[in-house]
Amino acid sequence: MSPSSTWRGVHFRMLRESQARQLLGVIEKLADVGVNVIIAEVDYSFAFARPETARYQFREAGHAPVSQQTAKALLKKARSCGIRLIPEFNCLGHQGINACRYPLLELHRDFDETPGHDDIPTRAWCPQHPGVMPVVLPLIDEIIGVFEADAFHAGMDEVLQIASPLCPRGCAQNNPAELFAGVVNQLHDHLTKKRALPMLMWGDRLVPQSTIPGANDHEASSNGTHGAIHLIPKDIIVCDWRFRKLSDYHGVYPSVRYFLDHGFKVWPAGGWLWENASPFSQHALELRKQNTDVLGFLCTTWNHITPLKAPISPSICDILPLWKNA
Ligand SMILES: [Zn+2]
Repeated sequence: MSPSSTWRGVHFRMLRESQARQLLGVIEKLADVGVNVIIAEVDYSFAFARPETARYQFREAGHAPVSQQTAKALLKKARSCGIRLIPEFNCLGHQGINACRYPLLELHRDFDETPGHDDIPTRAWCPQHPGVMPVVLPLIDEIIGVFEADAFHAGMDEVLQIASPLCPRGCAQNNPAELFAGVVNQLHDHLTKKRALPMLMWGDRLVPQSTIPGANDHEASSNGTHGAIHLIPKDIIVCDWRFRKLSDYHGVYPSVRYFLDHGFKVWPAGGWLWENASPFSQHALELRKQNTDVLGFLCTTWNHITPLKAPISPSICDILPLWKNA
C-alpha cells in the first residue's frame, strides 16, 4: 500500500476463531475488489497467552477465541494480497452489556464506571481508576505484537457511561470532555510514543449531536464529551461512521467536514447496507477531491457475517472500487 493510496477498508468484528478463519477464506476475494486495509476487531476474544494477560480471554459459550496461530495466518495472507491488517481493541466503552461484563470488569468490578448496577446496556470502565491502564496496555501490546501491527484502532465509540453519578470516584463532578480526552491521550501516548504507531478511533464522541441533524445518542455526543476534540492530538485518524439512510440525517452529512475543519484526518465509515453506505461514500469522494485528509472509505460489517461470504456484499464490491483512483 503506497502512502498515496486511498484507504479502501473493511471492518470485521472477529470475536470467534471460526470468524477469523472465515475472513482468512475471503481475503483474496477482498483484495480482488480493491480492499487494501482490514480492521480486525478482536477485543477480549483473543487467545492472550502472556502470564499477565491470559486470564482476560473472553470465551463466548461454545466458541474459541481467535487463536494466535490464525492471527498470524491472517497477517501472512493479508500481506501476500497487499492488504494492511490493523487490529482493534475497544477501549473505555463497550465493556459489557447489562449483567454481562467483559473480562476487564468481570475480574475487576471496581474498574466499572457504574459498579454494582446490572441494568447498564453499554458498560464503560472508569476513566479515573488508576488500575485500568496497567491491565489494558499489556493486552493492547500483545495484540500489536502478534499482528505485527503498523497502526492500532482503539475503538472508543458509544461511550454513554461517563461522568456517571453512579461512579464512586466522583466522576460526575468532572467535565466529561476532559475525562474522555484523558483516556484518549493516555492511549495516544502509549501507541505513538512507546510503540510508534498511528492511532485510529471512532469519532462519535467527538462531534456534538447538534451538528448532525437526525443523529441519535449513539452516533454523536449528547453527553458532553464532544469538547474533547480540542484536547486531543490532531494526528489521530478519526473513523466517522454513518450507518443509516441519508434521509435519516435530513439529507446532509456534516460530520466529515466537521472533523476536517478541526484538523483531523478522517476515514468515513459506512454500514453494511449498500443503499445506506453508497450515498455517504459519494459524499466523501467529493470531499476527497478537495482534501486528501479524507483517507478513503471503510465498509463495516459488524455482526453481519454474510457480507464476507461469496458473493461479497455489494456495499464492498460496488463502493470500494470507486476509490481506486480517487
Ligand atoms: Zn468514574
